[in-house]
Amino acid sequence: MPDAILRIALPSPLRRLFDYRAPPGVPRSALQPGARLRVPFGRRELIGILIEVTDHSEVPAGKLKPALQLLDAQSPLPPALFKLCLWTAQYYQHSLGDTLSWALPVLLRQGEPAEVRQERFWHLAEGAQLDDPRLSRAPRQREALQTIAQHPHGVAQQLLGQLQLNKDSLGLLHEKGLVRIEIRRHAASERHLNWLAEPELPLNPEQRAAAEAIRTGFGRFNAFLLAGVTGSGKTEVYLQLIRETLEAGKQALVLIPEINLGPQTLARFERRFNARIALLHSGVNDRERLDAWLAARDGEADIIIGTRSALFTPMQRPGLIIIDEEHDASYKQQEGLRYHARDLAVVRAHQDNIPILLGSATPSMESLHNAHSGRYAMLHLHQRAGGAQQPRFLRLDVKSRPLDSGISAPMQQAIAQTLAAGQQVLVFLNRRGFAPTLLCHDCGWLSECPRCDARMTVHQRSGELRCHHCGHVERQPSNCPTCNNVDLRPVGAGTERAEERLGILFPQVPVLRVDRDSTSRKEAMTTLFNTVQRGEPCILVGTQMLAKGHHFPRVTLVAILDADGGLFSADFRASERMAQLIVQVAGRAGRAEEPGKVIIQSHLADHPLLVQLTEQGYFAFAEQALSERRSAGLPPFCHLALLRAEAHKPGQAEGFLDEACSEAELLLNELKLSGIELLGPVPAPMERRAGRYRAQLLVQANARAPLHRLLGSWMLALEQMPSGRAVRWSLDVDPIDLF
Ligand code: ADP
Ligand code: ZN
Ligand code: ZN
Repeated sequence: MPDAILRIALPSPLRRLFDYRAPPGVPRSALQPGARLRVPFGRRELIGILIEVTDHSEVPAGKLKPALQLLDAQSPLPPALFKLCLWTAQYYQHSLGDTLSWALPVLLRQGEPAEVRQERFWHLAEGAQLDDPRLSRAPRQREALQTIAQHPHGVAQQLLGQLQLNKDSLGLLHEKGLVRIEIRRHAASERHLNWLAEPELPLNPEQRAAAEAIRTGFGRFNAFLLAGVTGSGKTEVYLQLIRETLEAGKQALVLIPEINLGPQTLARFERRFNARIALLHSGVNDRERLDAWLAARDGEADIIIGTRSALFTPMQRPGLIIIDEEHDASYKQQEGLRYHARDLAVVRAHQDNIPILLGSATPSMESLHNAHSGRYAMLHLHQRAGGAQQPRFLRLDVKSRPLDSGISAPMQQAIAQTLAAGQQVLVFLNRRGFAPTLLCHDCGWLSECPRCDARMTVHQRSGELRCHHCGHVERQPSNCPTCNNVDLRPVGAGTERAEERLGILFPQVPVLRVDRDSTSRKEAMTTLFNTVQRGEPCILVGTQMLAKGHHFPRVTLVAILDADGGLFSADFRASERMAQLIVQVAGRAGRAEEPGKVIIQSHLADHPLLVQLTEQGYFAFAEQALSERRSAGLPPFCHLALLRAEAHKPGQAEGFLDEACSEAELLLNELKLSGIELLGPVPAPMERRAGRYRAQLLVQANARAPLHRLLGSWMLALEQMPSGRAVRWSLDVDPIDLF
């Protein structure tokens, strides 16, 4: 019998499998597809996944290396998840091995056993006395022993930090025989008769209608778009549908945007259910992530909540997928495997034959289009659940008005009036830092980034210039680097400057800033929200971090300082994003008694899209934007793929893309494909970034199928192209950012 040949997917960008012989001494029968193997690769070792075992290889037998070690007796990856990864790799034109490695928890990629970990638990030893005389001079050990004694089921190792238990003290207690160690698994969650830990809210008629419609779609694939204004009670609908899913003995997967990860969101799920909730998000460490993944796979977790990559969590009994804030850009991964978790979630629901619910106050154009064409059933919630009214919108034309740190005089008056009435103000400006540029008034020097075609932002508080594109940091100069003059002026305004100015204008109230710079620490955010909840007059200044996931019932004025970026931009999606942000920010404000007011400063106050949005609302805006996209032949009415390249030398990336373009033209002829246009190559809008010159080639197609036929052959050809070796290149299927 010929030697078994193992075809293995490796975490490499090359879109092919690699052949190995079996590890010495491992019989063919032990080699299950899906199992992980450690293999030699060049001078390194990699961990790959066995795709199939065959008898034949194109590699000459003498060159075939044996794999080093078989890591799994069985595939850690259930077949359904493997199928999803296969689909993902094909659709995004990405190597299967690399796709699998994005989909798997880090520790599995590193070879950790794919089993729920046995954990160490600390218990009080039999007969141990809390006042043991040996501890009279060891207060820390005494305290530790007391803490342990308070936990009759033992203290899990992972909780030691939280309980401020010190490992050394425990070690000493163990030596004295006062504590004992038990190694066991966490208890699996029990089946519950009553899944509810708190009563549900009675649904209002709109919520009930939505929940009923979705319920009739249970048990098989159905996609729903729940379009509900902020505060309309979408989450309550999710919670009740999840309860029904649990009652049916199934699991629910909930994806939320990174930025919504407030403890408030999670606490709401935890308060509601007697259920094991597995969390997979950026705040969870690798070990916890693997445990959550395994608990979901083995059916021990009932609800799985996570951000983008949680989409790849296996479930033993999948029942429902929910994508909250489905329009959110954080669902699209912008590096490596450039997948869109929302789109893949729909594919997954289809593969698993379960319902999927996409929710948003401001649905994406893509999802609205899918609803219009009947692929998704659309459900509306028009009213705020608590009875609060929708805010009123006012456009404030600031053409030729002086701006004082970005704030016009009428805006200042509106803020003053609101504070005088004892209410709170939210000032929104989607730009961090003090000012986007530092300018020498004498010679015109600008704070350009040495590595990018961009200006460095002034961060006054830290005395730095920072490039928001590449992360480059310099000390803020006191003299002009060119002419040595001291008259350096910050131009324009960011949140830091607005905060400073508002603090001077309104010294009697607190001014709280919320952006990535101010809220790097979790507690800072909590303190801030507590201040706001107390309800005294104050001003909140912030970026889009303010736009998500929180309710500020006492805010009655939302001041949007700059809506122009969304109206000027060359990116056709900029207006959609602007509209979503405005509506989301506006949705934070107002309560039953005092409807909110939203004032939008703009130099383009009469722009038709802005008028539509403010006078007729998001859905009217979306209709207008969709019809513009249709006539311009833009997504969702066409399909895009973007080939990006970057290189250290100018021209090099474009050279590669020129060749790629000719190759694509050849293939279009050869494969007789029509309805596909190649646009470019052109330099990227910001040509130089982080020291590299960037260019791009856009492929635009009327239909998905021919586009994917082209991409398949094209990528194989590009991998062979010598000019591709000198540049960094990548393909982005369905790009959401053309820059
Ligand atoms: P959304 O997810 O649409 O922003 P939420 O579910 O967070 O809305 O609901 C907004 C507020 O309204 C919450 O405080 C919630 O407790 C409350 N709420 C939701 N549904 C109801 C209901 N049926 N009756 C009373 N209050 C409700
Ligand atoms: Zn100068
Ligand atoms: Zn830079």
